[in-house]
Amino acid sequence: MGKKNKQFVEKITAMEEDFAQWYTDVVKQAELVDYGSVRGTMIIKPYGHAIWENIRNELDRKIKETGHSNVSFPLFIPESLLQKEKDHVEGFAPEVAWVTHGGDEELAERLAVRPTSEVLFCEYYSKNIHSYRDLPMLYNQWANVVRWEKTTRPFLRSLEFYWQEGHTAHATDEDAAEETRKMLDVYTDVVENYLAIPVLRGRKTEKEKFAGAKYTLTIESLMHDGKALQSGTSHHLGTSFAENFDITYLDENGKSQYVHQTSWGVTTRLIGALIMVHGDNRGLVIPPRIAPIQAMIVPIAQHKEGVLDKAYALRDRLTEIVRVDIDDSDKMPGWKFNEYEMKGIPVRIEMGPKDIEKEQVVLVRRDTLEKEFVSLSELETRLPKLLEEIQQNLYDKALAHQKEMTSVATNMEEFKETLENKGGFIKAMWCGDIACEEKIKEETTATSRCIPFEQEKVADTCVCCGKEAKELVYWAKAY
Ligand SMILES: [Zn+2]
Repeated sequence: MGKKNKQFVEKITAMEEDFAQWYTDVVKQAELVDYGSVRGTMIIKPYGHAIWENIRNELDRKIKETGHSNVSFPLFIPESLLQKEKDHVEGFAPEVAWVTHGGDEELAERLAVRPTSEVLFCEYYSKNIHSYRDLPMLYNQWANVVRWEKTTRPFLRSLEFYWQEGHTAHATDEDAAEETRKMLDVYTDVVENYLAIPVLRGRKTEKEKFAGAKYTLTIESLMHDGKALQSGTSHHLGTSFAENFDITYLDENGKSQYVHQTSWGVTTRLIGALIMVHGDNRGLVIPPRIAPIQAMIVPIAQHKEGVLDKAYALRDRLTEIVRVDIDDSDKMPGWKFNEYEMKGIPVRIEMGPKDIEKEQVVLVRRDTLEKEFVSLSELETRLPKLLEEIQQNLYDKALAHQKEMTSVATNMEEFKETLENKGGFIKAMWCGDIACEEKIKEETTATSRCIPFEQEKVADTCVCCGKEAKELVYWAKAY
């Protein structure tokens, strides 16, 4: 096949050559997105959307399993409402899109297109929470939000994106803390066990936390190019929103108390992570558990009598156990091989006249491109097992990469040298002073990713100022 068919598939830039261009080529060639007519917006195409749906379905199931209900809140936020929490509005102000007119009429008050919906939920909670019996209130919404970003890239940073945002209200600080951690665990589960992406877990520094939160917990993952990507955050909001929005309840003694709140979200960014963690120079590699199509049947010499009939019969048989499809178009098999490698479909099933004669098929796994011959009678046992092997292999490979790309630095010279020559995560001690954090960012462009739950002591002194260290921080250049 090789040469002759290559012309049918447009080439993508090698990731070693230009990682950013490779990413752009893959999202386009794998037909995940197209650009919207407003700069920085994206059209998520059917294949990209099917991936998002699988992520969403899994997460939605777990959000409901943990006791939350889905709701839909409005797209617009009155300016006066948005400004009620000072830190919060300052955090978002530069990115807010405003509606000033309804038809020809200028509005008496500007309306923000939601950048996030904390304040809408707060207003609702202030009206609907009265007694300790109303708590906890556990809501989630699947929605689109708008943030007027200056530089944009599909999935990673776009003017409008899709996400879920959880908003909960609790009687006590401990209950809110438990919720914050619980939802981080849910995110960890989905990202590690379904997207096959290992994560670092920890707390954000004061500088990097969500505007208005008491603290922010985060999962951070490492991309193939050694840059980090924040993959999900869960915020303990404390009582600051409750104080500003007057969200109180009467406790069991009839005493008025402020509620303790949380919010948490993951976005279509996760698709960006998926691309940059598992993809290669042939395109996407989708972990089987979230792959819209887990196995693609490509008939060989399909014009020969009986081949297509057998291939359809095979599809009907496998529909029971995996998400399977068949390409019976008149394109060359070589074109189809390239196309489904580009789309990252975990397994390709080849079936031609010779295979039919021998009552076998050829399975080609996308992650390693290894081929194996499997007799038709064993396919029902072998195929699901192979999919699990691929799932595990993708996770193991990503974890090995993350470990290999994690270094220790004890002074700024080491820090800069490692970041320059190797990239990845840098573990370094920190004194806790924001001045050091800012200096590191200024001198290296690396930001603090998280203060890991699992603390180690890699040195006694702060990597930046040399004063006594308080805690270990993971640093990296990030998307
Ligand atoms: Zn310091």
